[in-house]
Amino acid sequence: MRYQGREVDIDGRVRLVMESALTARDRVGVQDFVLLENYNSEAAFIENLRRRFRENLIYTYIGSVLVSMNPYKELEIYSKPQMERYRGVSFYEISPHIYALSDNTYRAMRTERKDQCILISGESGAGKTEASKKILLYYAVTCPTNDHMAALGERLLQSNPVLEAFGNAKTLRNDNSSRFGKYMDVQFDFRGAPVGGHILNYLLEKSRVVHQNHGERNFHIFYQLLEGGDNELLNTLDLERNPQSYPYLVKGNCPRVSSISDKNNWKVVMKALPVIGFTEEEIQELLNIIAGVLHLGNTQFGEGEEGETYVTTENQISTLARLLGVDGSALEEALTHRKLTAKGEEMISPLTFEQAVSARDALAKTVYGRTFTWLVEKINQSLALKDEIYHNSKGSSVIGLLDIYGFEVLQHNSFEQFCINYCNEKLQQLFIELTLRSEQEEYETEGIEWETVQYFDNKIICDLIEEKHKGIISILDEECLRPGETCDVSFLEKLEDKVGGHPHFITHKLANGKTRRVMSREEFRLLHYAGEVNYNVNGFLDKNNDSLNRNLKEVMCQSDNQILSHCFRREEVIDQKRPEMAATQFKNSLMKLMEILMSKEPSYVRCIKPNEAKQPGRFDEVLIRHQVKYLGLMENLRVRRAGFAYRRRFEAFLQRYKPLCPETWPNWHGPLVDGVATLVDHLGYKPEEYKLGRSKIFIRFPKTLFMTEDALEA
Ligand code: ATP
Ligand code: MG
Repeated sequence: MRYQGREVDIDGRVRLVMESALTARDRVGVQDFVLLENYNSEAAFIENLRRRFRENLIYTYIGSVLVSMNPYKELEIYSKPQMERYRGVSFYEISPHIYALSDNTYRAMRTERKDQCILISGESGAGKTEASKKILLYYAVTCPTNDHMAALGERLLQSNPVLEAFGNAKTLRNDNSSRFGKYMDVQFDFRGAPVGGHILNYLLEKSRVVHQNHGERNFHIFYQLLEGGDNELLNTLDLERNPQSYPYLVKGNCPRVSSISDKNNWKVVMKALPVIGFTEEEIQELLNIIAGVLHLGNTQFGEGEEGETYVTTENQISTLARLLGVDGSALEEALTHRKLTAKGEEMISPLTFEQAVSARDALAKTVYGRTFTWLVEKINQSLALKDEIYHNSKGSSVIGLLDIYGFEVLQHNSFEQFCINYCNEKLQQLFIELTLRSEQEEYETEGIEWETVQYFDNKIICDLIEEKHKGIISILDEECLRPGETCDVSFLEKLEDKVGGHPHFITHKLANGKTRRVMSREEFRLLHYAGEVNYNVNGFLDKNNDSLNRNLKEVMCQSDNQILSHCFRREEVIDQKRPEMAATQFKNSLMKLMEILMSKEPSYVRCIKPNEAKQPGRFDEVLIRHQVKYLGLMENLRVRRAGFAYRRRFEAFLQRYKPLCPETWPNWHGPLVDGVATLVDHLGYKPEEYKLGRSKIFIRFPKTLFMTEDALEA
C-alpha cells in the first residue's frame, strides 16, 4: 500500500504517511496514547501531545477517551463534509475527532439502546463549551429530522447564546468563561431523531454580579444591553450607554473586550429569545430585571448623626421600584432596616452602613441568580418533549452532555473553588469506577483474565468533604446555624478540631503544636487527588448562608414583575424553616447528577489549554504537564494499558494483516479465531504478547503491532 504525502486514515489506529511508518510516528506521534511504548513516562506523553499539536492534530485518544487541545485558532475540520466523513465510521478507522466520539456515542445509543453521556472536563479556557457546542451541532446536522424536529434542533442550538449571555463572563483565563455548570440531556426518538432536551444548571457564580476581579467583567448580558439596546429601550430602562456609570460593571476596570462584540451578540440573543419561545412581555420583564440590578448597584447609602443609615440616591428608588415592580418606600425601608421576630414580636432594627451595602448586594445577587434559574426553566419548557411525540417515542434514548467547571487553583481560593474542586473529586470518583468497570466488563465478556490495577481511590477525600455530621460541609452548616458569635475563623477552628488529623487536611497548626509558617491563619489546605489547594475561609459562612433579609424577601414576593413573583414565593416568607445552605444544596445536586451519570454509558472528552496567553501555536509545557496531571490522564492510560495496549475484532485484524501470511491470503476459509491464530503464529507472536478472546485479539505491547504494521509497509 502506498501513501500520499499527507496524513491518511487507515484501517487501524496507526497513522501512516508517505515516509515509512516509523518516521511518520516520529513526526505526528501516535493517535492513541495506548500505543506509546513507554506508557508510564509523562515526558513521552507530553512529547506525543507536542508533535500532534505542531501538526494541528488537536485530538488524540486514550482508548475511548478523547483528549482535545485548544488550538486557539479556527481549524478547517468542522465543516459539513467533515461531519459526513465521520458518520457511521468506526472509532478507530479514522483520525481522532470530536465528531468520531459524537457519532460513536450516537450509534452506541441506537444499537445498544442504552442511554449515553459525554463528560467534558478541563480547566477554564480549555475548550469544554466549544466541544459541547460542536457535539450538539453534529447531532443537529446529521440526525434524521422533520419540520417539527428541525424546530427543536434550532431551539437547542439557540439556547446556547442565551445561556452564555446570562451565565458567561470575561475572566482573566477565558474571554467567554462559563460561570455555571451545565448538564444537558438530548432526547432521541426510536428513529434516532432529536425530540427533546433538558438542562440542569449548577452553582452560578453570583458574586460576580456585584464584584469582579481586576481585568474581569460582569456577565455579558449587561454590556450587551448597554451596547446593543436601542435608544428607546435604554430610555425606558433609564440607562446610560456608558458602562462607567455603573459600579457593578467596572469593578474589574475592563468594560470592553477586544475579542467580543457585545453589539452583535446582543442581536443574536434578541433573535434567539423568541425562537426559544419567550414572549415579548417576558423579554421586557427580563430586561427590566437586568436594568434593575444595575440601578441597585447605583443605590448609595449615607450615615446619619445617630449612626442610622439612609439611601442617598433617593431619586433612583422610584426607577428601581418601577423596574423591579415593587413598592418604592417598602424597598427603601427594607434596604436599610431588618425585621426580627423576638419572643413572638416583630421588631424593626436599623442596619449599619456596611449591613445596608451588603443587603443591597445580596438582593442583586439573589435577583440575578433566581432569574438565571427561571431562564433555564423557561428554556426547558421550550425543549420539553411534547405529549404527542412522547407517545410515539417508545424506545427513545438520551445522550447527556456535561460541561462543568474543571479543577480550579487560583491565587486566592474561596468557597466557590471549594465547591468546584469538590465537584471534580466526585467526577474523578465516577471516572475511576466507570473506567475500571467497563475495562473489567470487556475482559469478562471476552473471557480474558482480569488483572487488578492499582490506582488512587479518592473516596477518602470525598468523605472528608461530604460525610454526614463529620465532613467539612456538615461542619460549615453547623457553624452557620450555631447561635451566638460565629465567624469564618471560628469555622476554621471547628475544622481543626474535627478533621485536623485527616491525612488530606492541613492548616497552619502542626501536630507538635508549632506553626507552619507558609500558611496563613485563615487558610486550610486540602490535598486533592489533583494536587494541593489552599482555601481562605473568609466569606465561607456568608456564602454558605446565602440569605436575604426577610423584609427584602417580603418586598420581592409582592413584585408585579411576573418573573420575580415566580422567583420569590410567599411561602418562603411564611415558612420559618430554614432552607438548605448553599454547600449542602450543591452537594445534593451533585449526588443527583452522579445518579444520572451512573445510569448511562459514559464517554469522556478531556480538554487541555496550551497556554495562558490564549494564542495559537504556543505549547507551554509546564502548564500542560500540570493539566495532564490533574486530569488524571497518566492514570487513565495506566488503567487502559494495564492489560493490553491494543484490541481489535478478529475480522478487522484478519482483513488488515492477511497479506502477511500465505495461509490467510487472499482469503481465510474457516473460523475467524483460527485464522487469527494462524496469522499471528506465522508472524512469530510469542504467547505472552497476545491473547485471543471470544471475538477480539488483545495485544499487550505496541511494539508487536508496530512490527506488524512495518511488515505491511515493507
Ligand atoms: P470555561 O471553564 O471558562 O467555561 P471552557 O473550557 O468552556 O472554559 P471555551 O469557552 O470552550 O473554554 O474555550 C475558550 C476559547 O478557546 C474559545 O472562546 C475559543 O476562542 C477557543 N477554542 C476552544 N476550543 C476551540 C476549537 N476547537 N477550535 C478553535 N478555538 C477553540
Ligand atoms: Mg465554558
